[in-house]
Amino acid sequence: STATASPPTTTTTTTTTSDDMEALWMPFTPNKLFKSSARPRVLARAKGMHYWTTDGRQILDGTAGLWCTNAGHCPDPIVKAIQDQVATLDYCPSFLFGHPKSFEYANRLVSELLVPDTKLNRVFFTMCGSTSVDTAMKISLAYHVARGDGTRYRFIGRERGYHGVGFGGLSVGGILNNRRAYASCMIPGVDHLKSTYHRDRHAYTRGEPEWGGHLAEELDSLVSLHGASTIAAVILEPVPGSTGVLPPPRGYLRRIREICDAHDILLIFDEVITGFGRLGRGTASEYFDVVPDLITCAKGLTNAMIPAGAVFCKGNIYDALMNTTPDDGSPYIELFHGYTYSCHPVAMAAGLATLDYYRDQDLFDRAARISPYFEEGMHSLKGLPNVVDVRNIGLMGAVELEPYPGSPGRRGHELMERCFEDGVMVRQTGDTIALSPPLIVSEGDIDVIVDTISRNLRKLR
Ligand code: PMP
Repeated sequence: STATASPPTTTTTTTTTSDDMEALWMPFTPNKLFKSSARPRVLARAKGMHYWTTDGRQILDGTAGLWCTNAGHCPDPIVKAIQDQVATLDYCPSFLFGHPKSFEYANRLVSELLVPDTKLNRVFFTMCGSTSVDTAMKISLAYHVARGDGTRYRFIGRERGYHGVGFGGLSVGGILNNRRAYASCMIPGVDHLKSTYHRDRHAYTRGEPEWGGHLAEELDSLVSLHGASTIAAVILEPVPGSTGVLPPPRGYLRRIREICDAHDILLIFDEVITGFGRLGRGTASEYFDVVPDLITCAKGLTNAMIPAGAVFCKGNIYDALMNTTPDDGSPYIELFHGYTYSCHPVAMAAGLATLDYYRDQDLFDRAARISPYFEEGMHSLKGLPNVVDVRNIGLMGAVELEPYPGSPGRRGHELMERCFEDGVMVRQTGDTIALSPPLIVSEGDIDVIVDTISRNLRKLR
């Protein structure tokens, strides 16, 4: 249980001072604020549901790191697989060479994670979510070119979408703060669908809202505006996560699929968060029973213990590119794309062990079984001071707060800090607190997370 957890090995406690932190430029962090904090959040160890700080405090992980350590921290079999692999084959070039685990892992993802009827049966390995998004966008363009349809250069993303930080993902993403400084370099030909979230109509819905399926028709308007023959792909998170857990209105994703089908537009689901059990299924595609042409993933692919990402792709897309190969025996490269760390042996070993672990511990079903309890816990926060919405689906949830007048994000940040001081890690995005616990979370853990948020909400100004 939560109360009796202890660190995996004895730790000498240390504290980190602002001098120690000078050289590091911390990503997506208010560096000045963090470095001036009296007790900076610095983590030394992790096991199962918990982190331990350098000064020895135990923290219950309500967010699976950054929505990623779905199997919990440092599971022994995955640790061992990584250790064995790095001592056996540390690295293998992924261009022109292969190693057995990359083939094996791709096969197993296709046969064990993905639903066979979907024909998502080709796997391209990347390094992370951002590189998966870039890869899926490039595959989409290359596919149309290979079919002699090279006028399709436009992409359609969505407001409040997050697709990582590459120029492709930023361009189709819909978060102003992420784009502002780079606005001069957004890729051309991108439109954004409206976000489906509607505060008045959606507040306190559980799972998929009933209202808003018709918003998918906006895609039809964009097709009429630009002409289908200019549109390469639509990219969406089935459930936008980073902008505050926004479950899709019932019927929305299915209608988007229909419109794409009618116009030969590829559909990309960005499942960097929703993949690998977050909704109690292998993918959100399976959960919603809507099949895209490409799925991007990362995070849960290796339980985030080694960086890696992947793009799952329908066989016909791969085949279209293979059919461009001249039959004269020349060494023709079908897709001019790849990374030094694609198919990294240590990542492949971690991935195989992660997939085994999900299966052996029955973690996707477990997530599905505990989701209703999580939902009840989340919605018990309704009515507490400053709470304006609670949303959830699977093991993703969010509590949205009324911002301090004139100081957006501050209330959310203070709640995150207070919860951490009180032993629980939650994720802050603006004035929304998001939760995505590891799939091993217990009812007792959920109680602790919810009680901690509740207690600290009452203390906030
Ligand atoms: N897409 C989605 C939907 C994400 O949530 C994220 C990361 N949270 C990314 C892409 C980017 O992944 P990474 O940070 O691994 O590049």
